[in-house]
Amino acid sequence: MIRILVAEDNAVNRELLRELLEARGYTVLEARNGQEALQMIERSLPELLLLDIGMPVLDGFAVIRRIRENPRLAMLPVVAVTAYAMRGDREKILSSGFDGYLSKPLNPSSLTAELDRLLTKSAQSAQQDQGFADQRGRKYQSADTSGSGG
Ligand code: MN
Repeated sequence: MIRILVAEDNAVNRELLRELLEARGYTVLEARNGQEALQMIERSLPELLLLDIGMPVLDGFAVIRRIRENPRLAMLPVVAVTAYAMRGDREKILSSGFDGYLSKPLNPSSLTAELDRLLTKSAQSAQQDQGFADQRGRKYQSADTSGSGG
């Protein structure tokens, strides 16, 4: 079971992402602002975070900073989802610690490609203790460790 946290303040966008992700077999968790997102990450340790930049309470830049500063969370793959289309925003986002970037309106095939890229890399790093883990010097521990029987 791969759980993806959707952190997004707009209910319509959350619903759209939920439908796209569930249609691809992912389990979806939702947060409505940056603070909720951090609480849910701490509690559930999802496999990946789709993080809106413009959100109340804590915006996406504040959330990614706190994730990367927290040794327990730092390895979480995080994709920025933003309507910002200004020149230079992509560079700002990618230099802020995000692993990927999707612009709104969302292109479903771009979403799928990002998830395939990041979740494959993440799974390899868990098996081989390489990739993300070595890049950031530590290993992200998913909460999904109950499956001893496969
Ligand atoms: Mn927003």
